[in-house]
Amino acid sequence: MPNLYFLISGFFCSILIVILFFTKERVKTKETKIYGFMILSSLIDIILVMVELLICYFNYTEFTKMIVHILNKIDLIHYILWVNLLLLYIYFISFGGTKKYDKLKTYTLSLDILFILIEFLLPLNIINTDGTMGITGAAPTFVYLVALIYLIVIILIMIKNIKKIFTKKYIPLTVLIAFMIVAAFVRAVNPTLIIIPSIIAYINLIMFNTIENPDVKMIEELNMARDRADKANQAKTEFLSNMSHEIRTPLNAIVGFSNSLIEDSNDKEKITEDAKYIVKASQNLLELVNGILDISKIEAGKIEIINTEYEISEVLDNLIALSKARLGEKPIEFRTSFDESLPKYLYGDASRLKQICINLLTNSIKYTKEGFIEFKVSSVIKDDICRLIISVEDSGIGIKNEDIDKLFEKFGRLDLEKNISIEGSGLGLAITKKLVNMMNGKIVVQSEYGIGSKFTISIDQKITKGNLNKNDHKEQIEVLEFPNKKILIIDDNKLNLKVAEKVLQPFKVIITTASSGDEGIEKIINENFDLVLLDDMMPGKTGTDTLKELKENLADYKTPTVALTANAIVGMKEKYLAAGFDDYIAKPIEKEELKRILNKYLK
Ligand code: ADP
Repeated sequence: MPNLYFLISGFFCSILIVILFFTKERVKTKETKIYGFMILSSLIDIILVMVELLICYFNYTEFTKMIVHILNKIDLIHYILWVNLLLLYIYFISFGGTKKYDKLKTYTLSLDILFILIEFLLPLNIINTDGTMGITGAAPTFVYLVALIYLIVIILIMIKNIKKIFTKKYIPLTVLIAFMIVAAFVRAVNPTLIIIPSIIAYINLIMFNTIENPDVKMIEELNMARDRADKANQAKTEFLSNMSHEIRTPLNAIVGFSNSLIEDSNDKEKITEDAKYIVKASQNLLELVNGILDISKIEAGKIEIINTEYEISEVLDNLIALSKARLGEKPIEFRTSFDESLPKYLYGDASRLKQICINLLTNSIKYTKEGFIEFKVSSVIKDDICRLIISVEDSGIGIKNEDIDKLFEKFGRLDLEKNISIEGSGLGLAITKKLVNMMNGKIVVQSEYGIGSKFTISIDQKITKGNLNKNDHKEQIEVLEFPNKKILIIDDNKLNLKVAEKVLQPFKVIITTASSGDEGIEKIINENFDLVLLDDMMPGKTGTDTLKELKENLADYKTPTVALTANAIVGMKEKYLAAGFDDYIAKPIEKEELKRILNKYLK
């Protein structure tokens, strides 16, 4: 009966763990779930083996022999599943729930089905001498062999993670593997000594007391959550201090040069020069704000890749024109080299592709004093997919080896003692990398400090036949003038009204302004307008409320009304369209966007 005593102690041990584990509040991680399965299956196994033993001892007939046979087979299946669960458990705590983990789970569980089938077909002998049960034959040998293979895989995983071997999670696991090897050895030498189910129960107990105790896990989880919160907080603080610096730099220029304009307004040449500085600093500021919006949109998962058909040559021409304009008078040779085999029409997100290239080209222009910049586009075509390989090489300042890893970090501005006079936010490459990833592409950097850098991206685009509607493009290029068309601008901020009037001036429209929702409504009642540009965030009546009132009170209110607002965060456009606005334009007003609006509503 020593077998039964072993089992009884294993049974109480298992039942205790099951009760403690399942009655406590647990963190719901995958590893804990696996552990739950492990202890349940172990308890069921012990009960089965105890039933087998009792039958052998008290009532061993031809009929009950068959039952013992079946129970033993189930028992063996349990070993296969338990070792597999242990393998998954150890893999998960070693490498986390990656795709490889999912693959391993699928493969091993499918293999288990095969093993179980084989195990059922193989012969099994039951030894029963005076109630001392044991099993021999091909079935148990096969199962021990499978368990041994799993064990070897487990040991290999642990060796691969040798650095973790002395961590809290690995110590008990190492002990229990040793335990298992001893138990398997004892079992092989003496098949009538049934110790494996109890050993498994003790292993479960060791795991419970060390790494799977729900209370301990809960504390661990809380600590991790606190660490995450601390890190997020630190990132926020860093972000704010960075922002404060980055925003103040262009603002300093704007305020300084504007003051100088006021103080000394006689020298025309100086006025033009100061105004140019102001425009440049403003553009930097706008670029910074757009960058922040872009990166926060990407990080919030709010940027989508919108695929349409486009003509690659148009994109490239555009990029060349833009780069040449940015190069200005710099003594840099701008070389281009485009593969002849580039397909004419591609299907993908042309505007994001352009944004990626602009970022790389702008950087090469910024960080190169003289020499050359080479913009190269080649392609590898397979079936209907064209892999675009785009590189931007320069003979600029280059990047130190140790800085390459920091390139794609947010606000990662490098080599500041050299770059201090070059404007930048450190966001361009972070955005570029994120966009390339979103388009399932790759980006690599080669650089030699003091010699130059080369950024290469590869992105797959579909090849299409070309059904582009050329008329869409024509409309945008047209020079617009709309004499006699009447526009009402409603904005509480006088400065904004002035700016809007100024940017609308070249279009020869007739402008009326109102500085509140109520004033706007009054003007609309008394006069017909062709277009209303309506600010939203106004004290008293907001733009949205104003529009609502207009639509409720004037049954035939059909004047196109466009939200003109600095509220440019994620999802705002959708919000304004849902509120009944016909369109949306963000402040500061971009000329192209304004043209699009005027063209759409005043033609
Ligand atoms: P920034 O707005 O500062 O240019 P980016 O994210 O575009 O921000 O670039 C991050 C940093 O990488 C830059 O500050 C610069 O130090 C370095 N860098 C980027 N492109 C180049 C290049 N072509 N040559 C040398 N350094 C570069």
